[in-house]
Amino acid sequence: MKLAITRLHPISPMRKLLCITAHPDDEAGAFGGALLLYHERGVETHVVCMTAGTAARNRGLAETHDELAQLRRAEFAASCTLLGVTSGEVLDYPDSNLDRADLQQAVRDLVLRIRQIRPQVILTFGPECGLTGHVDHAMAGIFATLAFEWAGRSDRYREQLEQGLAPHRPQKLYYHTADFHLPDRQPISQPTVTARVEIGAERFEKKVEAFRQHTTQAPLFERVRKNLGQGGGGVEMYHLAATSTPRDARQENDLFEDVAED
Ligand SMILES: [Zn+2]
Repeated sequence: MKLAITRLHPISPMRKLLCITAHPDDEAGAFGGALLLYHERGVETHVVCMTAGTAARNRGLAETHDELAQLRRAEFAASCTLLGVTSGEVLDYPDSNLDRADLQQAVRDLVLRIRQIRPQVILTFGPECGLTGHVDHAMAGIFATLAFEWAGRSDRYREQLEQGLAPHRPQKLYYHTADFHLPDRQPISQPTVTARVEIGAERFEKKVEAFRQHTTQAPLFERVRKNLGQGGGGVEMYHLAATSTPRDARQENDLFEDVAED
């Protein structure tokens, strides 16, 4: 029998990953494979989603804004359960209007979560708006990038520190990316691929299943499955955007590579 050789590093129970998204379903569609993989490897995984997705064209049976928000929060919770997420939270920022959200408030909210959860690794979108070109994705990523930089500073959001929280410096910030474009979308110029995370066929199916928990979005299921399955769907790609320890760029296959014990 051939022994499987894994190049991944052993994960200690104190390892934590925080994923910052824009809409319920991003956690599955964009980051589902990594969330599953690292949950299986004993990492605590957390998701903060900035909007309840109430601007969606597909609204299921919801008749009002509040009904849709309620449905989408429940779908998000079901998806997070399937992905083994330790904690999932949906904030109240306005869907499709994140570019008009108050920057100080949005970054403050994210810094608060980073100081509470204390993750070593943060995943989010890059400023290109993600594969679908949705501006909310870019804004969630920009807020998350500032929060990554500022959570460790003693001169940002001091009121949180006065209330007993300590500054926290996450070690690595990744943007979701890909080596392909989706057709019929606005043009995007993506961050380079610096990490290829093998999620494999089984986790890919589970990620699709997590997306399918978002039943209000059922009309998108076929298209999303096709989009997610580009290049076989067994690999999620990321761009290492920042690190707490200066280093040269290099290709990785593990988002926790070089992460030091806190
Ligand atoms: Zn989205």
